Amino acid sequence: MNLPLSVYFKEFGITQLPTNIKQKGVTMKTIDTNRRNFMKKASSSLIAAAAGSSLALSAIKAHAAQSAVTQTKQTQSATTPQKALQMLKEGNDRFIQGKMTQRDLMQQVKATGSGQFPFAAIVSCMDSRASAELIFDQGIGDIFSARIAGNFVDDEILGSLEFACAAAGAKLILVLGHTECGAIKGACDDVVLGSLTQTLSNIKPAVAAVPGFEPDRSSKNDQFVQAVADKNVVLTVERIRERSPILRGMANKGQIGLGGAMYDVHSGKVTFI
Ligand SMILES: [Zn+2]
Repeated sequence: MNLPLSVYFKEFGITQLPTNIKQKGVTMKTIDTNRRNFMKKASSSLIAAAAGSSLALSAIKAHAAQSAVTQTKQTQSATTPQKALQMLKEGNDRFIQGKMTQRDLMQQVKATGSGQFPFAAIVSCMDSRASAELIFDQGIGDIFSARIAGNFVDDEILGSLEFACAAAGAKLILVLGHTECGAIKGACDDVVLGSLTQTLSNIKPAVAAVPGFEPDRSSKNDQFVQAVADKNVVLTVERIRERSPILRGMANKGQIGLGGAMYDVHSGKVTFI
């Protein structure tokens, strides 16, 4: 049953219409009319349901999401590496609690069109379940996002990270692995497939660096796969420090933070390591 939108507002004790409703020409008078029509038709069970929904709405209003802050030169320069990490932690908390920040993305498009000032750069897998913007509840202009199967770094990703931090002012690099990673499983199984073979070769050092798990060091062994995924994050963080004098220097001076994390595709939770 489709109830008139206005019924919901009236039943929830809302007497002021939201701006977007006003723009559609709905008035409180039409709401009253609709409400009377609805009340004639409504069964007592529906009324009871509306009362329950009213309580639910009150709870939602009590935990109303914060409005988004679009990053500017000022907000970026005021952000420390520690603060950037905290912002990502809080973003993932909002994500797993379903209390994402309210965003007007087109407003953010307009606000960032002439310049971007992201506070962090994230290296994550291309996996469809591991979008950094979504799982950290970030909007337009908040984070650089380098995504590649197996979340490793090569020269091109390193160059991108150097741009993000040394040229564009990001304060944190986070390497984000995830559970159930197909690229990690492919590397464990020595998959050979066109250009993917070369891609997976970047993950092989992590496979080699995880001892034990005999006799099954294949993708069928979930614990082995996760151990390799964890090691791959650690090695990728180390590789950034080793292979980029620019980023190493910035990290040593405390100008940027550099760390790793693991995303659980079952729970939505990011564990920082
Ligand atoms: Zn993956």
